[in-house]
Amino acid sequence: MAKHTIVLIPGDGIGPEVTAAARRVLEASGLSVDWVDLPAGATALEQGFDNVLPERTLAAIRAHRVALKGPVTTPVGKGFKSVNVQLRQKLNLYAAVRPVRSMPGIKTRYDDVDMVIVRENTEGLYSGIESEVVPGVVTSLKVASEAACMRIARYAFRYATKRRRKSLTVFHKANIMKLTDGLFLKCAQKISEDEYPNIEYREVIIDAGCMKLIQDPTKFDVLLMENLYGDLVSDLCAGLVGGLGVTPGANIGDEAAVFEAVHGSAPDIAGKGVANPLAVIMSGVMMLNHLHEEALAEKVKGAYNAVLAEGKTLTRDLGGGAGTNEFADAIIAKMK
Ligand code: NAD
Repeated sequence: MAKHTIVLIPGDGIGPEVTAAARRVLEASGLSVDWVDLPAGATALEQGFDNVLPERTLAAIRAHRVALKGPVTTPVGKGFKSVNVQLRQKLNLYAAVRPVRSMPGIKTRYDDVDMVIVRENTEGLYSGIESEVVPGVVTSLKVASEAACMRIARYAFRYATKRRRKSLTVFHKANIMKLTDGLFLKCAQKISEDEYPNIEYREVIIDAGCMKLIQDPTKFDVLLMENLYGDLVSDLCAGLVGGLGVTPGANIGDEAAVFEAVHGSAPDIAGKGVANPLAVIMSGVMMLNHLHEEALAEKVKGAYNAVLAEGKTLTRDLGGGAGTNEFADAIIAKMK
């Protein structure tokens, strides 16, 4: 088996706890790996770096092309530009891919949810172009470029085709944001018609789309949307399958990929050893597939599915009493 070099960014809050657990699980699967441990977020400042995203961390991801990242804390309304936005823009990680699936043993309102959210990751309202027009009046610019809209639409249809998905739905608000969301829709329509007629194509205005998701998420397959909508709808969908503890993610570009859970640094439970590491472990499984280690990915997936189905060792967010490490140990035990 080839040895992989993977950048590991523990992050802030629960990040170090959940990434350490994920690292143990991935190593126990038999993955041959050299981890390059580097900081980002508040932790980077505490370690004496002058930026929340140190140049050394960025350079390592550029060099090794793959990273597993814990969440970082982003101060509200002040301070450095978000680490996540910087990472996605600087490394051109233009596609956020977030599978949302019903999990064995996790009782929720629906049993057969199986969706993938593809979120444009580099522009929209996350472009960071804000200004004060006059005192008391501020603006935030929403940016949509044809190149980025075509790129994400093509990625989403290609992903849908490779994964044998049936339909792709764009959530939008082009009735109000006629130019930006209008361009996003136009690009998706063009890619659908010209390149992927094999995938059923649908468009839904996002407010009605959210209602439909809650009423019956099993009607949706691949969802494609711009940056902010993808952020919001990801958490909404996480709530449909058991919460943020079970929702993994990947940020994919042509030159690099960063795998991370959808959840944040959860300061309310940080340092207590109770966070659910599963979302990071599942992000690790997406990373194994990306590295063409499909057999190891299946091994880890089979192990956590078995632990969930048994229902004896679950973390608090899933109704159990197990700690972060206990849950990881149960997964490791299933792989022996
Ligand atoms: P959050 O996702 O950190 O937490 C929301 C709720 O979910 C909390 O009650 C938390 O305890 C719970 N939760 C989250 N992950 C969990 C897990 N693995 N196990 C059990 N419970 C879990 O969202 P927030 O509180 O809005 O944000 C906290 C910080 O994280 C903010 O600074 C925010 O900017 C940042 N954030 C970072 C990322 C990232 O780095 N990718 C993503 C989202 C938010």
